[in-house]
Amino acid sequence: MFSKILIANRGEIAVRVIRTCKEMNIRTVAVYSEADRNSLHVRLADEAICVGGARAEQSYLNIPAIISAAEIADVDGIHPGYGFLSQNAHFVEICESCNITFIGPPASAIRLMGDKIAAKDLMRKAGIPIVPGSMAAVRNKEDALKTARRIGYPVIVKAAAGGGGRGMRVCHNDVRLISALMTCQAEAKASFGNGDVFVEKCLEQPRHIEFQILADRAGHTIHLGERDCTIQRRHQKLIEESPSPAVDAKLRRKIGELAVRAAKAADYASVGTIEFLLNKDGTFYFIEMNTRIQVEHPVTEMVTGIDLIKEQIRVAAGETLGLKQDDVALDGWAIECRINAEDPSNGFAPSPGRITEYQPPGGRGVRVDTHVFAGYDVPPFYDSLLAKLITTGRTREDAIRVMQRALDEFLLEPIRTTIPLHKQIFSDPTFWRGQISTDYIDRQLQLGESE
Ligand code: ADP
Repeated sequence: MFSKILIANRGEIAVRVIRTCKEMNIRTVAVYSEADRNSLHVRLADEAICVGGARAEQSYLNIPAIISAAEIADVDGIHPGYGFLSQNAHFVEICESCNITFIGPPASAIRLMGDKIAAKDLMRKAGIPIVPGSMAAVRNKEDALKTARRIGYPVIVKAAAGGGGRGMRVCHNDVRLISALMTCQAEAKASFGNGDVFVEKCLEQPRHIEFQILADRAGHTIHLGERDCTIQRRHQKLIEESPSPAVDAKLRRKIGELAVRAAKAADYASVGTIEFLLNKDGTFYFIEMNTRIQVEHPVTEMVTGIDLIKEQIRVAAGETLGLKQDDVALDGWAIECRINAEDPSNGFAPSPGRITEYQPPGGRGVRVDTHVFAGYDVPPFYDSLLAKLITTGRTREDAIRVMQRALDEFLLEPIRTTIPLHKQIFSDPTFWRGQISTDYIDRQLQLGESE
C-alpha cells in the first residue's frame, strides 16, 4: 500500500481524495497554484507545495513542476482527480519513469479511449452497439455528406479528442454540416491538439446512462450499476442519479454485462465509466469511455456503500478486487446536484468572487462534497464547480424531497449559483415523473443554448 500520495488537483475532488487517504492512513501532499494558496485542500493535506501561477498551464497542468513536487515530497503515488492531467497518457508514462504510481488506468487505455473514433471501433469489434456514423476521421466535406446521407439528419459533428461537452455540433442539413465540419476541425486542433472529427447520428431525446466500472490489474472487472446523467446544459451534466428511473433489473444486467465487456476490451484497470445513450424504445448505444474518477461518483457510492476512491487506490497498489459482481447491490436512491458559480439566468455566465455567507445543508440523507467555506474567494481561472449536493432516500421520491429541503437550506452568498435552477427543476412534475431527456433544460426550461 502507498505511504504517501500527491494529489495533482484542486477543489472538491482534492478534498475528497485527501479524506479517503486519511481513512486509509496514507499521508497526503497537496499541490496548489498561487490563486489557491488559502484553499481547503491545502489546509487538509499533511504537506502542501506551490507549483506555479494561477493559470492552469502554469500549475495544475505543469508536469515538470508537479513531478518535482512529487520527488521533493518523496511520494509513492499520484492521484490525478478528474480534469487537468487525469487523462494525459504522457503524464502517466512520466510518473512511471520516475517510479511513482499513477493512481489510474494504464497509459495505453487512456490513449485508446481518448480517441473517440478508435474507442468506437474497438467497441464495435467487441460487439457493443455504437451510435451509427463514420468509422474513421472525416477527411473532407464529401466524406461528411456521404455519411450524413447514409445515417440521415440530424447528425452530430464531434471532435475525436473532445470532452466536457465541447467540440460538438448538431447539424440538420448539408449547409450546416459543411460549415460545422470546418469550425469543428479548427476548434478541435486549437483546443485538443488533434483536429480529427467524425460524424454520427444525433439521437432524438435520448437519456444519458453510464455504468461505473471497477477493475483490478489481474483482469477482474465488475460494474457498480448505472448513473442517469440526463439533466444537462450544453451537453454538460448538471444533475445525476443512481439508479436510473429508466433502467430496470433486466436492462441493468444487459447493459452492465456489455459495460464490463467494453472495459475488458480496453484492458482496463482502475475505476472508469462506460457511457451510453438510451432511446425511448430501449435501444442503447456506447458513446465513450471516461478513464478517470468522475464528478458524479458519489451517487454510486451512496447506493452501493463502496468508497470508489479507496477501491481506486487499492487496485493501483496492485491489490485485487475485494468483491465480486454478485456482492454488488443497489440500495435506495441517490441524487447529486452540481452547484456551480454560474448565473443560469444569464446564459450560465461564470460568477467568481468572494463567498461571504456560507451555510451548507445537513441532516438525514445529505452529503456535501465541497472546498468552499465562508470567506472563500472563487477564482476565475478554473472549473466553476463549487459543491456537490448529494441526497439519499429509500425511494426516488424520498431523495427528491430531501434535495428540495437541502437546496432551501443551502446558503452561498452573494455570488450567483445554479441553486435557483435546481430548485426549479426539483419542483417540476415532469422531472418528478422521471420523463426527461438530454434536451430537458433547453426545451422544458427554455434555458441553455442562449450563448
Ligand atoms: P464529452 O466527451 O464532451 O462529454 P460525449 O460524447 O460524452 O461528450 O457526449 C456528451 C453529451 O452530448 C451526451 O450526454 C449527450 O447529451 C450528447 N450527445 C453526444 N452524442 C450524441 C448523439 N449521438 N446523439 C444525441 N446526443 C448526443
